[in-house]
Amino acid sequence: MHIGNYLGAVRNWVDLLDDYDGFYCIVDLHAITVQYDPRDLEQRVLDLAVGLLASGLDPERCTLFVQSSVPEHTELQWLLGTVTPLGELQRMTQFKDKSRDAESVNAGLLTYPVLQAADILLYLGERVPVGEDQRQHLELTREIARRWNARFGQVFPEPQPLILPHGKRILGLDGATKMSKSQGNTIPLLAEPDELHSLVRTAVTDPARVRKDDPGNPHVCNVFALHGHFSSSAERDDIEILCQTAGIGCVDCKNRLADNLAETLAPVRERARELADRPERVRQILAAGTASARSVARETIAEVRQRMGLSTSPS
Ligand code: SF4
Repeated sequence: MHIGNYLGAVRNWVDLLDDYDGFYCIVDLHAITVQYDPRDLEQRVLDLAVGLLASGLDPERCTLFVQSSVPEHTELQWLLGTVTPLGELQRMTQFKDKSRDAESVNAGLLTYPVLQAADILLYLGERVPVGEDQRQHLELTREIARRWNARFGQVFPEPQPLILPHGKRILGLDGATKMSKSQGNTIPLLAEPDELHSLVRTAVTDPARVRKDDPGNPHVCNVFALHGHFSSSAERDDIEILCQTAGIGCVDCKNRLADNLAETLAPVRERARELADRPERVRQILAAGTASARSVARETIAEVRQRMGLSTSPS
């Protein structure tokens, strides 16, 4: 996890815990649609679980599990695929972006949004906390639900996007593109203070500010935007004026940000360390989540199979 995931998504999910019966799955089946090393996958799943739990996703108040541990996801994907128009999948912006320069494109990349639809509809999801870049996929999920219901009878609700109060796009260290591993511009959530300092030092600032005695414009600077998430409003106001009057250099400004990042995220790092030392406990939490998810998933699949005239589920 990086701080873009934390600020843009996970922190918001934690805020939803008391108001929704939430299902959160670690989407390992989606992860394998791009090149990956099978030897690392299990550890990556565990690391992500640690990051989510350490960020406050309390397994007592939601269902947290690994997608591939609930085989009904892929079964429902196949069944929903029979009502999904191929043209809609080919029109998905993410598919077009990811396949544009690829030498060869696997079918998983094309059918990824059907699996996403299955992830949601399997739990009869009504609200989905999505970022702007996933809205098109959610719209397709609604379309798939409509088509399936029209053909086989009402089962699936049409899920609505849940607009998150703090769901803004977080820019990466380049200050230009969304923080993302594929862009190589991330600040890891669990980075130690030294690493935070070296990473923040590389962050792009106001490009018009060349020397320390040039006044800067904090409102075009992503370092200042990040101060908005990790520094007090008094410190942010102070930096705004100091930047505009050349009273602070970018190096000092970045050091202050790195210090505040390290301090704010210290409790998350501490919880993550405790969990990482107890991988069996993390596996137990995920296994309990799987059991709870499967009990819902089996019911949905049984209903879907019956409506579609298939034999009842063997599981
Ligand atoms: Fe950005 Fe801070 Fe430099 Fe101003 S002083 S340009 S806010 S890094």
